[in-house]
Amino acid sequence: MELTEILDRGSAEAAGAAEPARPTSRKVFIKTYGCQMNVYDSQRMGDALAVSGYVATDAIEDADLVLLNTCHIREKAAEKVYSEIGRIRQIKKERALAGKEMMVGIAGCVAQAEGQEIMLRAPAVDLVVGPQSYHRLPDVVRRVRGGEKVVETDYAIEDKFEHLPPQDRATLRSRGVTAFLTIQEGCDKFCTFCVVPYTRGAEVSRPVSQIVAEAERLAVSGVREVTLLGQNVNAWHGNGPDGGRWGLGRLLFRLAEIPGLARLRYTTSHPRDMDDALIAAHRDLRVLMPYLHLPVQAGSDRVLKAMNRRHTAADYLKLIGRIRAAQPDIAMSGDFIVGFPGETEADFQDTLDLVKTVRYAQAFSFKYSRRPGTPGAEMDDQVPESEKNERLQRLQTLLAEHQRDFAVSLVGRKIDLLIEKPGRETGQKVGRSPWLQPVIVDEKAGGIGDIVQVRITKAGPHSLHAVAI
Ligand code: SAM
Ligand code: SF4
Repeated sequence: MELTEILDRGSAEAAGAAEPARPTSRKVFIKTYGCQMNVYDSQRMGDALAVSGYVATDAIEDADLVLLNTCHIREKAAEKVYSEIGRIRQIKKERALAGKEMMVGIAGCVAQAEGQEIMLRAPAVDLVVGPQSYHRLPDVVRRVRGGEKVVETDYAIEDKFEHLPPQDRATLRSRGVTAFLTIQEGCDKFCTFCVVPYTRGAEVSRPVSQIVAEAERLAVSGVREVTLLGQNVNAWHGNGPDGGRWGLGRLLFRLAEIPGLARLRYTTSHPRDMDDALIAAHRDLRVLMPYLHLPVQAGSDRVLKAMNRRHTAADYLKLIGRIRAAQPDIAMSGDFIVGFPGETEADFQDTLDLVKTVRYAQAFSFKYSRRPGTPGAEMDDQVPESEKNERLQRLQTLLAEHQRDFAVSLVGRKIDLLIEKPGRETGQKVGRSPWLQPVIVDEKAGGIGDIVQVRITKAGPHSLHAVAI
């Protein structure tokens, strides 16, 4: 998953367009850190708070409630949050001098990991909510307004999705023609480098009926492309309407029947959960985009074992062979970690060799980050920072070369383009290729939400250019 810091303008506009009869109109500013799952969570927090009369704002100084939706996957996450709280504390003081309230809340995985500690270290914080408790936000906010400080990080027994209000159509429409839909949360795999099983808890799958209802709601609101999300999305095993347990392959076939939904994607997948039905979906479903994010992390069997990935490099390559046989047009994406404890230069060479074999169309690579509480953090032979830096640079140079080659290979090709929004320059619109690349076209190529045929004319470093045909 791409890990960037995102200011959640989406949910800001969204809650702004919420239902007409709201009790009051206080303002909430939500800042999102981390992956797509946090983007989705921030939108759902916005939905929950809209019911209590909160509308979103992009201006933190105007906010009656500030929420930081945090990520804990790599180092310094908590430190970054504390320094952000320091900045917000100043704004809170200024608002207090002007007689205005400002509640400060910490949500997401740092909230889960630090809990009460946040209140002790940062008295400016009024509420802390873990990822399973967003549906309780209206109540938490009400209690804080009544003078309490609230920490809500117990894993909820009830299903938060059942308690979150359904998103209203105007809100969904304002979020654009592509949408995320979380179908699975948590993880039972316990890779030795990863905090997810500790911060997000055990694997939970939403039932088919809930997912279909949400996807239908998105479709009638004008969404053309849905990306199903999960920390381990292909481990999803939800209860079906027939009483049986469905797998992701079957779910994709069901979602493909929804009128208006033209594109489906899913992320992030684990190699061990790529079953035959899912591979068959890539072969048979036209609406399932030929793009697969399938992290391998490392190319050395020794390192993979130490990471507890429970597959070898050869297993992974064989799997990619089967996927490519089923869908020859598929573009592969992946995640890599360099400098896991004990990784030698020879191990790292195995990673480079695997990359050269797969030739990823896109990939994300990270230096190993020691996460307190995970087995990796306790391992001897931690790799020095300088070696991690050097390996990361070599790996990223190779990955960038392959990414560029893939983009250049598309020049001259006719593709379907989903037009998503106006371009940065006047007269342009931007869409996405089936392989997730941004594509710039003349604005007359089609309307937002249209899928048009274009020919790729140029491959730039970050986007493709195309003309309508
Ligand atoms: N479930 C997915 C899988 O098994 O591949 C990955 C989800 S994880 C939230 C996203 C990515 O963050 C991982 O694929 C990994 O590359 C990276 N990551 C996780 N923990 C890390 C750590 N301690 N140091 C560096 N990167 C890490
Ligand atoms: Fe983390 Fe993915 Fe491993 Fe689960 S499978 S522990 S989410 S890296």
